[in-house]
Amino acid sequence: MIEVAGLHKRFGATKALDGMSFTVRPGQVTGFVGPNGSGKSTTMRVILGLDAADRGKALVGGRPYATLRTPLLHVGALLDAAALQPSRSARNHLLWMARSQGLDARRVDEVLETVGLAGVARRRAGGFSLGMRQRLGIAAALLGDPPILMLDEPVNGLDPEGIMWIRGLLRGLAAEGRAVLVSSHLMSELEGTAHHLVVVGRGKVIADTGVAELIAAASNGRVGVRTPEPE
Ligand code: ADP
Ligand code: MG
Repeated sequence: MIEVAGLHKRFGATKALDGMSFTVRPGQVTGFVGPNGSGKSTTMRVILGLDAADRGKALVGGRPYATLRTPLLHVGALLDAAALQPSRSARNHLLWMARSQGLDARRVDEVLETVGLAGVARRRAGGFSLGMRQRLGIAAALLGDPPILMLDEPVNGLDPEGIMWIRGLLRGLAAEGRAVLVSSHLMSELEGTAHHLVVVGRGKVIADTGVAELIAAASNGRVGVRTPEPE
């Protein structure tokens, strides 16, 4: 669904990506975890064609994002804490976004239901909690009913209840067969959310493993994670 292979990217003297490679599969939540500055956001921006890599490839459904004819129908993304016009209601915010994608209002009501905001759809989004704003951002990402979702730190700063809510939402979206890539700088935020973990540091993958495999290896006292081959 998403394939990233050998991405390199420098910003001046900073090596942001240093051979980043991994795959995101359908029907799973893939947790993308690593400390701040490890290249998670840059990778997502490269996948979406918002940044250009110096080398390597990033494919969505086998093709570069920029060559997709209807990209928003392929990939829904939430990169920054959802940017909102605070005076608009949640529903009007989504209607405005849907219109710009040529979608109808029925889809707006569906996604509001999916993220649990149908009951507050007519309230000003400016009065929403951070967790509600992130859910509205996820609703916006779902407007085109994309098979792939990419969310950058969607639970950063949320309280445990907000994290639990988004956890259930992401598991449900993966259960529908979507490929979900979700980043966090805290492993604890992805525990119980991800089926698969891609752990990164300094612009490359340091471990790529199923969560069940990881737990089995840990309980056998083994280091059982698959680490990528050196280049
Ligand atoms: P993460 O999302 O894992 O915190 P980032 O991808 O944001 O990491 O950043 C990786 C590295 O690239 C960091 O050292 C960051 O400072 C640097 N970086 C990211 N974007 C830019 C940019 N636009 N200009 C200069 N440096 C950048
Ligand atoms: Mg980041």
